Amino acid sequence: MSPIKRGALIVIEGVDRSGKSTQCKKLVQSLENRKIQSKLLNFPDRMTSTGKLINEYLKNEECTLNDRAIHLLFSANRWENLEKMKTLLYDGVTLVVDRYSYSGIVFSAVKKNMNLEWCKQPENGLPKPDLVFLLTLSQEEMQCRPGFGSERYENVVFQREVANMYDQLCDEHDNWERVDAAGSIDDVHDKLLDKCVSKIEEVGDTPLGILNF
Ligand code: ADP
Ligand code: MG
Repeated sequence: MSPIKRGALIVIEGVDRSGKSTQCKKLVQSLENRKIQSKLLNFPDRMTSTGKLINEYLKNEECTLNDRAIHLLFSANRWENLEKMKTLLYDGVTLVVDRYSYSGIVFSAVKKNMNLEWCKQPENGLPKPDLVFLLTLSQEEMQCRPGFGSERYENVVFQREVANMYDQLCDEHDNWERVDAAGSIDDVHDKLLDKCVSKIEEVGDTPLGILNF
């Protein structure tokens, strides 16, 4: 009997309303239709104990928390899910993750008096994604999309800085791919699905990587 191949760790990043949540859901559906075991995860995971604090911070602008403290909470929220992620991956389940360490880094590092290198450190040791999709969308296109939220960070100036920093991370890492998110939902989906399926075949028996910034 051949050993179970591990699942792939696939992450979608991008600015607000670039279509991350839409695409993550569709990817899991399409993979399941192809009988490829997969599961959707999203960060922050608002159900855990740190997730509840994070939820309060995001929803309530009056909730004051030191920038470094909230950064570490977002990171802890990923660490809380480590065992679950590893178990699923080694059981052969592909994880499609709506935001991950890179969102954590970028959203903190663009704040005044925060330092990019410092922001990366708490992520070291978490599972390294096999593939990160960066959904790219111009500011004009972003503003045409429905559902500009009312949570902290959902403003144009902040999102522009976030987009620039994502670009920088994308250039620095070989496991990232830019995908133009301006096409229709189905067009973007088709591009992502093909790349995902190839990656799932490719990772097979290889060990899961570890983030090491
Ligand atoms: P994100 O999770 O990146 O913030 P969402 O997936 O929630 O983005 O999408 C934001 C909004 O844009 C939703 O109303 C969604 O239906 C819409 N949307 C997503 N992708 C597209 C697309 N390719 N074209 C047009 N509208 C889209
Ligand atoms: Mg979303």
